[in-house]
Amino acid sequence: MANSAKQRIEELSKQLKQHNHNYYVLNKPVISDFEYDKLLKELEQLEGAFPQYALPDSPTKQVGSDLASEEGMQFAHRFSMYSLSNTYSVDELNDFDARVKKGLGIKTVTYTCELKFDGASINVLYKDGKMVRALTRGDGKKGDVITENAKTIKGIPLQLSGLDYPAEFEIRGEVLMEHRTFERLNAEREEIGEQPFANPRNAAAGSLKLLNSEEVAKRGLICFFYYFAMERYPLDSHYELMQKAKAWGLPISEYMFRAKNLDEVKQFITKWEEKRKSLPYDIDGIVIKVDSLRQQDELGFTAKFPRWAVAYKYKAERALTKLLSVSFQVGRTGAVTPVANLEPVQLSGTTVRRASLHNEDQINQLGLHEGDIVFVEKGGEIIPKIVDVDEAQRPKDAKPVAFITTCPECGTPLVKKENEARHYCPNETGCKPQIVGKILHFVSRKAMDIDGLGDEIVEMLYEKGLVKNIADLYQLQYNDLLNLERFAEKSAQNIIDSIKKSYAVPFERLLFGLGIRFVGETVAKTLAKYFKSLDNLMVASYDQLQEVHEIGETIAKSVVEYFNNPENLKLIARLKQYPLQFELDENQQTKNILNNKKFVISGVFANHSREELKKMIEQNGGKNVSSLSAKTDYLLAGENMGPAKLEKAKKLNIPIISEDDFLKMLGVE
Ligand code: AMP
Ligand code: ZN
Repeated sequence: MANSAKQRIEELSKQLKQHNHNYYVLNKPVISDFEYDKLLKELEQLEGAFPQYALPDSPTKQVGSDLASEEGMQFAHRFSMYSLSNTYSVDELNDFDARVKKGLGIKTVTYTCELKFDGASINVLYKDGKMVRALTRGDGKKGDVITENAKTIKGIPLQLSGLDYPAEFEIRGEVLMEHRTFERLNAEREEIGEQPFANPRNAAAGSLKLLNSEEVAKRGLICFFYYFAMERYPLDSHYELMQKAKAWGLPISEYMFRAKNLDEVKQFITKWEEKRKSLPYDIDGIVIKVDSLRQQDELGFTAKFPRWAVAYKYKAERALTKLLSVSFQVGRTGAVTPVANLEPVQLSGTTVRRASLHNEDQINQLGLHEGDIVFVEKGGEIIPKIVDVDEAQRPKDAKPVAFITTCPECGTPLVKKENEARHYCPNETGCKPQIVGKILHFVSRKAMDIDGLGDEIVEMLYEKGLVKNIADLYQLQYNDLLNLERFAEKSAQNIIDSIKKSYAVPFERLLFGLGIRFVGETVAKTLAKYFKSLDNLMVASYDQLQEVHEIGETIAKSVVEYFNNPENLKLIARLKQYPLQFELDENQQTKNILNNKKFVISGVFANHSREELKKMIEQNGGKNVSSLSAKTDYLLAGENMGPAKLEKAKKLNIPIISEDDFLKMLGVE
């Protein structure tokens, strides 16, 4: 008994650590929160019964760590950041209430109820009303520095308003991504062949850690603060302090509620069980906090949790249904995505017929068999997914679901690249969904912006043999279109005009339109700026590509591969017969005084705002990076810069320059 308990404790500790890593660092959880919490509970119980076997670094005693970068900077929190003990049952809320009352030796307690936002937590330091530093939760003791990124988040003020804010405090909050932003981001990622994020939480956490804060700004993150940490509180009620924070300009949720007793707490929980579905972002429960800050102090913390708060978590809704079949979809990049076809079932108000399966690993992890009875869940994800299989109900000789080996559209054997979870159909020039997808991408608004060519029309042009690749578009004649049943004179002429108009589309958009894997809009711009012409880019070596800021191995490899493919070279030769833009427009070009040197800006400056300085760097051919590394060329330092940054720059031997030095560099002063 004891021996097997010891074994199980070790096993659970190991598993939970791996799940923490998947969740907080990789942003790719493989089990649901509910399953995770179940494992954690089991470990807690075992450790309770057999404390002698509990590991010193047990996941029950430590918050899951999101610390990732060796390279990026870390900083200690002034006050530790904790996790929250959580529960899925109302009974346990009664226990919590009883513990609190006993701990305080009183009979009535006022609670504050808040939404439990499902995002990534941050800790922001304000000094004299100015935002000084932002950190991720990290391991609870120290976090990754993400100050520049946090500054791009709408609603986080750089300067507080009013006069009565405390001189210095840390404030904790959650950074979130709204559903519509998430869907837009994923659509963009799919379009350039990047793996979409599994849910808004992962997207938010991943975005917070991007190295380029301009990219972060585009991600449209939002934030709600919910907790102050400081030496002495200016008043006793957490609720009232948060209302004050609102007046100081900090983003505080409008859905906070002060409950006179546990019954009111329960009512709030019930109310939000339904209401949460109409929020534009995800919440996964309700956080209940003792309202009096003095009482909070009195109760204190365990190693991992505050004793004055608990999270009531809503169970993600699940439904049981039958797997009818698995079909395989081929995208523009040739990526093959398995989709489960299900017996229709009701789930959170909608009928679910299909669920995404992502890739082969996912199918294997679930151990999915033909005809299985499966659990589907709609968690943060927009598309429901299969989270479990009811093995007990499995038909006797059911076979495991096998991944296809040939393309369902064209029959070509599929390939799987090293380090990639997805299968691809390599038949780029003969596989219909890939061809149609590529043409649609080329004509899309952000690329060549050719009007009038939707899915159906492109498909028809392909089937009639009129357009088999993007170069064929430019050969298309007015009469070709008019002969097709769908076209009247006007619509045919419009398309021809729009195709001609695309001659003038700037080079970077043409490059994006080619649909090179991993070359999205931003990467296309970067490449265009750096190489200046398609001819230069075509002969760039793998190493040369990697010299470009923000171009990593994956992109470099993909670009080289693209231009090594004879089919693509043929295509480009044909495009070159038309007066398209194969070079960067000189007028658009920026001066290159700074010659791609990388700058980190920190602190406050006398003459220019940081945004102005950043723009000046860009316009003069330099690059802005958000964190110091050995690759940084200059630290542009202003007033009030963090001592750690200064120290790090010195350690790495990075020249530290003032605003004046910088202006001299540009020849402005
Ligand atoms: P867990 O992720 O289960 O460890 O739960 C703790 C986390 O919940 C905290 O670290 C916060 O990031 C998050 N959280 C979300 N909303 C709130 C809230 N209103 N109050 C406190 N923590 C919250
Ligand atoms: Zn194919």
